[in-house]
Amino acid sequence: MAGFWKRRIFRNVARKPVSKIENYLKYGFVITEHECYCCPACRKVLNAGPDYQPRYCSQCGQKINFSGVAWKRDVELGYMQRRDGHEPF
Ligand SMILES: [Zn+2]
Repeated sequence: MAGFWKRRIFRNVARKPVSKIENYLKYGFVITEHECYCCPACRKVLNAGPDYQPRYCSQCGQKINFSGVAWKRDVELGYMQRRDGHEPF
């Protein structure tokens, strides 16, 4: 009986997502560092966050285990420099 259950679990074993740091422009001018998570099998970026974690990759069906993931807040790195011709020199 024990072997039966072991095989069932390993056939559909969940893997941890791969974190990736991305920068994006919030509101069009705030340079923001955002941590997103990718599928460990096909590297598709998963649509996941602190409030929502998919159980499977939507592209390849890999089971994903988000337990133990420490969600980070977005970090604001600075503002886009405006180039409007008003340089002080
Ligand atoms: Zn995938």
